[in-house]
Amino acid sequence: MKEHLKSMTVRELAEQLKTLGQPAFRAKQIYTWLHKGIRSYGEMTNVPQALRDLLSEKFPLLPPQVVRKQESAKDGTIKYLWELADGNCVETVLMRYHYGNTVCISTEVGCRMGCAFCASTLGGLVRKLEPYEMVDQVLFTQVDSGLPISHIVLMGIGEPLDNFDNVMRFLELINSPEGMNISMRHISLSTCGLVPGIDRLAEKKLQLTLSVSLHAPTDEIRDTIMPVNKAYPTEVLLQACRRYYEKTGRRISFEYAMIDGVNDTPEAAKILLKRLKGLPAHMNLIPLNHVEESPLKPSTRQAVQRFQAILEEGGVPATVRRTLGGDIDASCGQLRRKYTQQGT
Ligand code: SAH
Repeated sequence: MKEHLKSMTVRELAEQLKTLGQPAFRAKQIYTWLHKGIRSYGEMTNVPQALRDLLSEKFPLLPPQVVRKQESAKDGTIKYLWELADGNCVETVLMRYHYGNTVCISTEVGCRMGCAFCASTLGGLVRKLEPYEMVDQVLFTQVDSGLPISHIVLMGIGEPLDNFDNVMRFLELINSPEGMNISMRHISLSTCGLVPGIDRLAEKKLQLTLSVSLHAPTDEIRDTIMPVNKAYPTEVLLQACRRYYEKTGRRISFEYAMIDGVNDTPEAAKILLKRLKGLPAHMNLIPLNHVEESPLKPSTRQAVQRFQAILEEGGVPATVRRTLGGDIDASCGQLRRKYTQQGT
């Protein structure tokens, strides 16, 4: 997992360099270069030529290639399709918010969670991404767009907690002062509800925002749209959320995709209120985005507003997520893995 230099911490890099007879100070230097998004070792101008040659032979950089770049005419959202070193492709989205440029990264090639409304899971999981492949999505989005990235959401293709160790490593790397130095408070991690992963994450006491894709107030409804609910039913999930809050003191953000006639009734909102009692939470309502293969439809505007009003009146802050990049299929649930040989 850690053979790629960019998947190593500064300390590990120093150990690696030591085995090559290099002084410790080179580690920070090289780490900083790597995390600037260089495409070749030749760019490391303050590193001796002989070392650059050695590194490029032993540790090829393997930067991702832009296969396709689309920009939304409506809101300036940019979607990248990257080809990874092994020919697999993943998508990354750059969104421009008033508080800063936010990159939405993928954590796996495909996904095995099988949510009925999500394009990312069609075709299942191919493989997990390595830490450097997640770092590269941030770096090369910044380099290619020329826009400084200040925020990250782990909400692209894949289930972050299904790739736990690599994702934890990614967070450590991207947070490192020698690299991108992105504050944990500017990072959100979204999960479909893998309870053991939530508990492991709680132990780390990170300052990031945990988003939980709840999407339904009862097992009856959740079972029909999220297979993960069979393994971790709503009560078990909500208990894990409570433990998470107790451990970290961080309010949980719930995602709730509003699906016409499935989970958007006033009754559903009322049940939700009851079940969230005493748990500091924020509800993110997302009108369902279109996925060609799915028959599910978004809730009407009235249904969304009614749902939001019931939650708010019951004391749970609820916002309706603004849809960005809808014209380029860059919205929640619309990202897909692709293979270059299929002509994307
Ligand atoms: N696997 C993680 C990360 C994906 S984040 C998770 O499930 O949380 C993407 C968010 O978009 C999740 O909340 C997901 O459930 C939601 N989503 C998926 N398909 C969607 C769609 N068609 N419309 C709106 N939201 C969708």
